[in-house]
Amino acid sequence: MHDYDLLVVGSANADLVIGVERRPGAGETVLGSDLAVHPGGKGANQAAAAARLGARTALLARVGDDVYGRLLLSSQHAAGVDTVGVLVGGAPTGVALITVDPSGDNSIVVSPGANARLAPEDVAAAGSLLCAARVVSAQLEIPVETVAEVVRNLAPEVRFTLNPSPPAPLPAELLHACDPLIVNEHEARVLLGPRAPADGGPEDWARALLRLGPRSVVITLGAAGALVVEGSAPGSAREPVRVPSVPVKAVDTTGAGDAFAAALAFRLSTGDDLPTAAAFAARVGAVTVTRHGAQESFPTAAEVAEPDT
Ligand code: ADP
Repeated sequence: MHDYDLLVVGSANADLVIGVERRPGAGETVLGSDLAVHPGGKGANQAAAAARLGARTALLARVGDDVYGRLLLSSQHAAGVDTVGVLVGGAPTGVALITVDPSGDNSIVVSPGANARLAPEDVAAAGSLLCAARVVSAQLEIPVETVAEVVRNLAPEVRFTLNPSPPAPLPAELLHACDPLIVNEHEARVLLGPRAPADGGPEDWARALLRLGPRSVVITLGAAGALVVEGSAPGSAREPVRVPSVPVKAVDTTGAGDAFAAALAFRLSTGDDLPTAAAFAARVGAVTVTRHGAQESFPTAAEVAEPDT
């Protein structure tokens, strides 16, 4: 019996947002709007998205012993996430300083803070939590060595998903554990580097990514939906499967990738096959882009359209 459908291992940030007429140049001061503070970070976002869909969700993360750490804990509680695995202290809470101009262009400075201090020893110490979920999902806003320690500590029946964002070189042991590796086009390009197909469509990219060693790959394609490819035997791949998008009027794509990854991991935990889980995740992503913000935009299960409606 598992206590959780999903354990998310990842980052938690406070997003500090100020609207400006014009982003400042070097040495310049500009006046902006009132400060808005939003809970964010890919780990906290994924956990909140999954819990909002009804997944029994826990988060393994680190925040500072400060006002932003308390804000993140309370927003996770409000979403229904179990924060038993959230460690407090060691560095200030991770913060993103964001200025946005009227055209929507932004400049962002991230201080990883406590996220960078989520160490492999913290994963080892959380051993029972890692075995308490059907699926464990991670991203790369925490040290890659910490994510590698997660896969070393997984029980064989626990499924692991990774969204390598921001993209960075991945050790083979980490790549081999991914089922699936979830990437957007930018992340795919960085991970493949010189092995990227010179031309060709997402199917070629998906096959090239599968050759890096993950058990399966999902490429998210924004308004074009997603693409799924599963390895069947070592070195061979089943045919890539296109996951249609839902036509919507997008107003803000912030958090769509996090909502997609969370919804996919949740539905894998309930026994869906990968194409079915990805189709559900695409419907969740489509709702997310019709609303402003990140965690504020995540839908409940009742708000996600059924395939034929
Ligand atoms: P990321 O935010 O990581 O770049 P994407 O932009 O590919 O990820 O979005 C993740 C998923 O959200 C997509 O695969 C798709 O299912 C959904 N989505 C994103 N943008 C739109 C859109 N404009 N219309 C419908 N669905 C969208």
